[in-house]
Amino acid sequence: MAEADIALIGLAVMGQNLILNMNDHGFVVCAFNRTVSKVDDFLANEAKGTRVIGAHSLEEMVSTLKKPRRIILLVKAGSAVDDFINKLVPLLETGDIIIDGGNSEYRDTTRRCKELQAKGILFVGSGVSGGEEGARYGPSLMPGGAKEAWPHIKTIFQSIAAKVGSGEPCCDWVGDEGAGHFVKMVHNGIEYGDMQLICEAYHLMKDVLSMEHDEMAKVFQEWNKTELDSFLIEITANILKFKDSDGKYLLPKIRDSAGQKGTGKWTAISALEYGVPVTLIGEAVFARCLSSLKDERVQASKLLEGPKMTQFRGDKKAFLEDIRKALYASKIISYAQGFMLLRQAAKEFGWTLNYGGIALMWRGGCIIRSVFLGKIKDAFDRNPELQNLLLDDFFKRAVENCQESWRHVISTGVQTGIPMPCFTTALSFYDGYRHEILPANLIQAQRDYFGAHTYELLSKPGVFIHTNWTGHG
Ligand code: NAP
Repeated sequence: MAEADIALIGLAVMGQNLILNMNDHGFVVCAFNRTVSKVDDFLANEAKGTRVIGAHSLEEMVSTLKKPRRIILLVKAGSAVDDFINKLVPLLETGDIIIDGGNSEYRDTTRRCKELQAKGILFVGSGVSGGEEGARYGPSLMPGGAKEAWPHIKTIFQSIAAKVGSGEPCCDWVGDEGAGHFVKMVHNGIEYGDMQLICEAYHLMKDVLSMEHDEMAKVFQEWNKTELDSFLIEITANILKFKDSDGKYLLPKIRDSAGQKGTGKWTAISALEYGVPVTLIGEAVFARCLSSLKDERVQASKLLEGPKMTQFRGDKKAFLEDIRKALYASKIISYAQGFMLLRQAAKEFGWTLNYGGIALMWRGGCIIRSVFLGKIKDAFDRNPELQNLLLDDFFKRAVENCQESWRHVISTGVQTGIPMPCFTTALSFYDGYRHEILPANLIQAQRDYFGAHTYELLSKPGVFIHTNWTGHG
């Protein structure tokens, strides 16, 4: 009876596609869902003609599994995961494995790892990225948690994951506890940043250069043959040229109010919590928040003056190249900040993270997939201890090469009144990071002035002193 290699619970879009992907790679999967009728529907339709089997109860599902039992949960993040874990534990034995592939919060994953470790069950929290298409044909998978589980799931995970280069899988072991979900969270934050950077480039093309949709689409297509080669640039070109059934471009008809599900916000919150200046993702989240104040903006647009828009008189082709370079430099900053957050989290939680491996996991299969991530992998291969991406020779030179264009684009955008929260914060970060002396000496003096918080002299590190700034008392 024990014929299934793995079970998957959760027959929504992600679960169904992941099952079919595992089936394609020769694994026998047992499917289960809270609403049990969906199991029969799935077997009769999407999974018809496959080796997928179904179960009508958790007991039946567990009985179909080879040992150690491997069970993936792909259900709504939150209490649904805990509910299923609680129901599964009495049916499992020591050494069995539960994998949560949903978008769970990394602290929940750490808690679940610890609770299940005490019960002898190996718990894995795996980031799964790439949406339904990725799940079906090759996602990016970021598993972390109980490492003893890895040898038992590695073959399945690496077989179904996206492949890049000479067949390298976009999946490797990330680290202990909630490390897999933390890395997935940062991935999603970076996705917010990448999307906002592209939007800023689009805004400049549209409002400074007065470009038409087809023309912009062609520029993005061209950019996709450069260092910016990525899924998001590719789909942007497709979106720009897409026409509605009335023959008009669809994009300008879409309400400019961005939604969000929260993982970008979580990344920004973690950055604040661990004191890492991940400014670009923070700005990308806030840009969505500002966009969602649509009614207020409509009112403000009638009342608040900006600079007068004049026709662009410069060299359009050269300015487009400047925008491309501004986007590339800002993207480098965003990834540098994302990896700074990963480093800090590793320190906080005692995780050993393989940064090059993480770049490779994101290189294919997921929304932020790009050629650029291969360069990040190379940088960490050159120096696994690399403190900051900006200090790698390749990225140092890349930013230097973009610098003049980046500053030119930002000053033009500022003068014409185009909001560029991510372009500008990226440049401010770069300028801050490369300054030996920042004006924080004044902050320290102010803090000491009003609150006797003390300060340290450059000449006497480690010695904290207080000055009576007013001469009173
Ligand atoms: P979803 O809409 O997030 O969840 C639906 C599934 O969860 C159904 O199987 C549903 O069962 C089950 N479920 C919901 N509430 C439950 C509860 N209280 N108790 C037990 N089961 C419950 O599905 P999805 O979009 O396929 O995503 C699955 C997971 O993958 C989520 O964590 C999601 O965040 C993550 N994810 C999604 C994407 C994506 O592109 N959609 C990408 C990456 C990761 P019923 O059928 O009985 O309602």
